[in-house]
Amino acid sequence: MNSQQPPFAPSSGDVPAEQSPPALIDRFGRHVTYVRLSVTDRCDLRCRYCMSEKMTFLPRAQLLTLEETARLGRCFSELGVTKLRVTGGEPLVRPNVIWLFEQLGALAGIHDLTLTTNATQLANYASALKDAGVTRINISLDTLDPERFRNITRIGQIERTLGGLEAAIRVGFQRIKLNAVVLKNRNHDEVVDLVRFAIERGIDISFIEEMPLGVIGDHDRAEAYYSSDEIRRDLAEYFELLPTIDNTGGPSKYFRIADEETRVGFISPHSHNFCGDCNRVRVTALGRLLLCLGQEHSMDLRRTLHANPTDDARVKKAIVAAMDLKPSGHNFDLEAKPVIFRHMNMTGG
Ligand code: SAM
Ligand code: SF4
Repeated sequence: MNSQQPPFAPSSGDVPAEQSPPALIDRFGRHVTYVRLSVTDRCDLRCRYCMSEKMTFLPRAQLLTLEETARLGRCFSELGVTKLRVTGGEPLVRPNVIWLFEQLGALAGIHDLTLTTNATQLANYASALKDAGVTRINISLDTLDPERFRNITRIGQIERTLGGLEAAIRVGFQRIKLNAVVLKNRNHDEVVDLVRFAIERGIDISFIEEMPLGVIGDHDRAEAYYSSDEIRRDLAEYFELLPTIDNTGGPSKYFRIADEETRVGFISPHSHNFCGDCNRVRVTALGRLLLCLGQEHSMDLRRTLHANPTDDARVKKAIVAAMDLKPSGHNFDLEAKPVIFRHMNMTGG
């Protein structure tokens, strides 16, 4: 990462040593070192598990500015956060987002600056992202079949996503990871082909159990549930999966494919709850600090930023105080009516 300093207000921050803010530790002793920053709720796809067909997006004037998001990134890094992920919605549809990556890439305490994207625009941005200091990219790809891709995303063309992936490989990104949400009778029969695809390119892949976020009005999430254990069973017929202790700082539990570079991860909110070692919080595009993906505990950081335009110490104080709001975990229940009305594109996945 380069050492250029961001051109916005200097950190007042630097609270004298005797008052230096504590690291981000919640009531359950979990240390928060990873923040997902959402830069938009908008997207050029409409994945069935993520959004309803007709979405109303937020007025642009209500979003955090990129300068405010960069300022938050700096505050978090000064509180001991070492990993930032930029997400959305689709982060690459936000105008001038490369500027934000450059600011975040310049933060000395950030060792891992990552992006989650549907890759439709990645062919245009891969090189600039690399130059900005992005260390890793996750690309969402649920199927290799163009028709299915269009069906799952409602409007997408697989060629654009595959082109984005190839561009990211070409400019030298290491440890690219595919994310695939697996739905029974939609794409569960493709898990072996997706792993082969990852092996051929020397990249990783994580399979995700669908989470009940927002009303999607598309399918019954309980009926479409396909567990990580079922996926592992399907893969075990073709590959030797070796358990690892690898950890990329997120919720995936990883296996290595024998004799291959590729790791296969499982994100299993239903079958293998990951809340016990949760190290993450999210900032929505509106500047709401969400303490848990599956709960509504939150703090309005936009208001704090606006009330303290040059005083980072107060912003950091608010973030530290918010740690007391972090709940022990989610209560996802696929059989129950949705209790979280916010869609994944609003959550910052
Ligand atoms: N647009 C980008 C993308 O698709 O990669 C970033 C945002 S998207 C909300 C982040 C991740 O959340 C994607 O990997 C997507 O597949 C996943 N996702 C969306 N809705 C989900 C849901 N209801 N359950 C589980 N994962 C979901
Ligand atoms: Fe867009 Fe990502 Fe949601 Fe798909 S999962 S609709 S690509 S935000």
